[in-house]
Amino acid sequence: MSPAMDRAPVDPATVLVREAHLLDPRAGLDGPGDLLVRDGQIAALGEPGSLEAPDGCEVVEAQGLHAFPGFVDPHVHLRTPGQEYKEDIQTGTRAAAAGGFCAILAMPNTRPVVDNASIVQSLREIAGTQARIPTGFTAAVTVGQKGEQLTEAAELAAAGAAGLTDDGLPIRSAGLMRQALQYQRLAGLTIALHEEDPTLSAGGVMHEGEVSALLGVAGIPSVSESVMVGRDCDLAAYEDARIHVQHVSARTTVEIIERAKAAGIKVTAEATPHHLLLSDEAVRTLDTNKKMNPPLRSEDDRQAIIDGVRSGTLDTIATDHASDATASATTGRESAETSG
Ligand SMILES: [Zn+2]
Repeated sequence: MSPAMDRAPVDPATVLVREAHLLDPRAGLDGPGDLLVRDGQIAALGEPGSLEAPDGCEVVEAQGLHAFPGFVDPHVHLRTPGQEYKEDIQTGTRAAAAGGFCAILAMPNTRPVVDNASIVQSLREIAGTQARIPTGFTAAVTVGQKGEQLTEAAELAAAGAAGLTDDGLPIRSAGLMRQALQYQRLAGLTIALHEEDPTLSAGGVMHEGEVSALLGVAGIPSVSESVMVGRDCDLAAYEDARIHVQHVSARTTVEIIERAKAAGIKVTAEATPHHLLLSDEAVRTLDTNKKMNPPLRSEDDRQAIIDGVRSGTLDTIATDHASDATASATTGRESAETSG
């Protein structure tokens, strides 16, 4: 079953992109050229400077710029319902469209949590009038993301949920995770996982390593992620279910996923731009903007994530976009809950 993706009606664009570097591996495109979009559809490709702009067509002079196919972001936080002072469906999808994204999936750790069919339905209705790009909504694995009682996966699937996740929080109980996978197989929704063993990560504020030792602050060890990924790959294999690992941050996690895939386990995984670009060196200045969950890890972990994307072990890049209000309006507890 394909997930529901809703958006507001839009007027299709007519635009000529002139002399861009056109890139589309699937179409075998990698070189300079003109690109004409007519009524929202690619109408012509040509040599640089060769295409004429139709009447009323917007022209983008794109020398020195790259043109890519639209990006899809499988992991964003739109903050609706309940925290619209941070973000809402309209502002989040406008920002995504401006960044080149043509479809996104929203996470359910809102207030209230998206954990029943009526909330999914109302979000889809709002998206149908406000979303600027096709937007899908995931629902929680457990009621209120409390990790105690499973949500009604079949009802959520029927309401058009795009997947299930308790993103921001791990599913602590292996027994509950196993049950979730059994229901998931019946409902056909992939379970996406924020992997963290809180008994290992509790109290930590950054990656546990040389930098945290030098700064004298409590660390979050990479095994707090990878032991849970190992557990859930085993459970997915045992239940012949499908899982998706969110925001992979550690080399050990990449290695476990690589082995799981080689063994035929149905696991996919994502890397974030920040884990590809930054390491715990960025936290040396104690800049709290560099503090996140999962944390920026060591340079060795970063290299493993780059290699994982190159090899296809990590299937997709996901931003984990999460707008936050000003520090004065946000308690520490809240940012811990709503990050990741
Ligand atoms: Zn997230």
